[in-house]
Amino acid sequence: MSLECVFCGIASGNIPVQPVYRNEEFMAFADLNPQAPVHVLVIPLKHFTSLMDVEDVSYLGRAMDAVREVVRILEVDEFGFRVVVNTGNNGGQTVPHLHFHILGGRVMTWPPG
Ligand code: 5GP
Ligand code: ZN
Repeated sequence: MSLECVFCGIASGNIPVQPVYRNEEFMAFADLNPQAPVHVLVIPLKHFTSLMDVEDVSYLGRAMDAVREVVRILEVDEFGFRVVVNTGNNGGQTVPHLHFHILGGRVMTWPPG
């Protein structure tokens, strides 16, 4: 856990949020600045700076399973949704704690900005 990290603060409960989902390894909550009618972030409770810092690839499988569970809870599974993992500067990552954006509730465009 990193003391300066906002998502570690959320994971530890020091920064209160209304969780959409939580299990032993991951939690999900609404994005502060939503870019779609449904915009939820799934984060590992443990600090990883980015996707590239996870060594155990089976962990990423469990992360995707948590994403799928949240998608079902949000009821966007039927109409479709987008999962985004912004990584590093060029990827547009602004919070250096691994997170999976789930965006839904509207038709997405391509290419993204
Ligand atoms: P990134 O740009 O790193 O891919 O995404 C970071 C996301 O975290 C942004 O969409 C931003 O709105 C969201 N965010 C940043 N700080 C907070 C916060 O304190 N609470 C919540 N709920 N979302 C946050
Ligand atoms: Zn963190």
